[in-house]
Amino acid sequence: MGERTLVLIKPDAVRRGLVGEVIGRFERKGLAIDEMRLRTMDPALADEHYAEHVDKPFYPPLKEFMTSGPLVAMVLSGDQAIEVVRALTGATDGRKAAPGTIRGDFSLSNRENLVHASDSPESAKREIELWFPELA
Ligand code: ADP
Ligand code: MG
Repeated sequence: MGERTLVLIKPDAVRRGLVGEVIGRFERKGLAIDEMRLRTMDPALADEHYAEHVDKPFYPPLKEFMTSGPLVAMVLSGDQAIEVVRALTGATDGRKAAPGTIRGDFSLSNRENLVHASDSPESAKREIELWFPELA
């Protein structure tokens, strides 16, 4: 099983029909899908999920965006899955993310950047408990 990480395929990716493309990249890399669910984030869940960002100036529009429509929440697993998924996802700003990464190939925005991925073992644990409490 290796390590587990939480991924959100954000509402922009769902609207643009890129869910299959994004999941396919993770699958082809060899990561396993342990759990997956289509869900719309409510404002309270947004505040909890992004607890580290709630006081930042970019948070209100981020919250608006993340609650604007359904997203796909998933738990992926594999060897060093947290770091591997962050590398496949690319830098936060899609305009600067390297070509070949999901954001680098499909995003021109630093907000609507298609994917959220846990950034450390601590955030993976916290975020998996938040989105998939049945796994805890
Ligand atoms: P990441 O998703 O790469 O871990 P952060 O944790 O720094 O990035 O930020 C969380 C999310 O907030 C980003 O994915 C992006 O959607 C949004 N965001 C971050 N920084 C900005 C910014 N300067 N302006 C607008 N949105 C931002
Ligand atoms: Mg982050």
